[in-house]
Amino acid sequence: MPKNPAASSKSAAELSLPIVKLSSRGAARLKSGHPWVYRSDIAAAENVPPGAMIKVADPRGKSLGTALYSSSSQIAIRMIAKHDAEITDLPALIGERIRAAIAYRQQFVADTDAYRVVFSEADFLPGLIIDRYNDVLSVQILTQAIDAEPVRGVVIETLVEELKPTGIVERVDARIRDLEQLLPRQSGLLWGAKSSTMIQMNGVRFHYDALEGQKTGAFLDQRENYAAAARYAHGEALDAFCYQGGFALHLAPQCSSVTGVDSSRPALEMADKNTALNGREIEWIEANAFDLLRDYADVGRRYDTVVLDPPAFAKTKRDLDKARGGYKELNLRALKMLSPGGILVTCSCSFHVSASDLLEVVAAAAIDAHKTLRLLENRTQAKDHPILLNAPETGYLKCLILNVND
Ligand code: SAH
Repeated sequence: MPKNPAASSKSAAELSLPIVKLSSRGAARLKSGHPWVYRSDIAAAENVPPGAMIKVADPRGKSLGTALYSSSSQIAIRMIAKHDAEITDLPALIGERIRAAIAYRQQFVADTDAYRVVFSEADFLPGLIIDRYNDVLSVQILTQAIDAEPVRGVVIETLVEELKPTGIVERVDARIRDLEQLLPRQSGLLWGAKSSTMIQMNGVRFHYDALEGQKTGAFLDQRENYAAAARYAHGEALDAFCYQGGFALHLAPQCSSVTGVDSSRPALEMADKNTALNGREIEWIEANAFDLLRDYADVGRRYDTVVLDPPAFAKTKRDLDKARGGYKELNLRALKMLSPGGILVTCSCSFHVSASDLLEVVAAAAIDAHKTLRLLENRTQAKDHPILLNAPETGYLKCLILNVND
């Protein structure tokens, strides 16, 4: 029994929340702790407005909690509170959760002024991603509910109050807005005047422009892996799929030479500026890394340290076999080039390729390359990208650091 009877009496606003009834499969999924319900697991949802806050019920009508509804996404329901929590004011709840997410980072994130402040479900804020790059914040809105004006308002207000930025930029993914049936918007400043800045992580400095680049936070999730890789790196190093030089710049102080390879010229131009900013020398090569690694392996080129951080090979479960083949081939080429005592840092950001899948394909590549590997570190994404245990989709990054022997 609640101690305060008033706390359990339902407010008018809450009573008027639409109720969505689930199939038994949908209810079971929520009971297992997963925060999503797919559209196919909804038994009854009548006249529920897009982006509404709803009450979710099992097939017998028993409440399973409060959620945000999307009228168009396959993920129709994203939970925001369990069972008897009474939520009447969504913007207030969102402000509170942003503050809690900030406090979590204060507790667990160190050596950086750039980190993910809010990571959607993993911070109990489904549909909202916020990254901090020193004094510039980048916001991504992924769902109808979070796109509502009062929610946008509280997001900005809370961020300004808590983090005192000089600029807040919205990064728009046109495909996601289209899927959520939201009106098109342009990326741009939401607040303040500044969209570019300078950041530092682990003592390494980077230029950052919120309105350029391939995706926001491209390298924040690797931040702790950069520092870990630098602890083992030595000799001649190759950073394949280097983007703006995250690994390469961290390796440079430990290595006699560093080469970075990427197919994106704009990324390499930024990498070059970052090199100058840190007073380093790094060779940047614009090339297809698969071809370059094959050519180098064929001519017997040798490295002491190789980093592999390719884009996701498996976008869906169906791609898994092909992706495993792709990772194996890439790791095989790298292993052929690594000198005895060398270090292989090999990553995968495909959610569908599990940590054990990656270990298996690297082990298979080692057999083909006639090498023996010892696992130094089996790592994942940085702690500002929390992994919610009951929502495996929140964990996607794998980073193995291996010692290579003939
Ligand atoms: N290691 C980087 C992130 C890599 S993201 C960091 O820590 O910041 C993947 C990168 O692979 C992107 O920069 C993309 O431009 C690059 N890329 C994609 N396909 C490529 C290819 N075939 N050859 C070389 N680079 C490629």
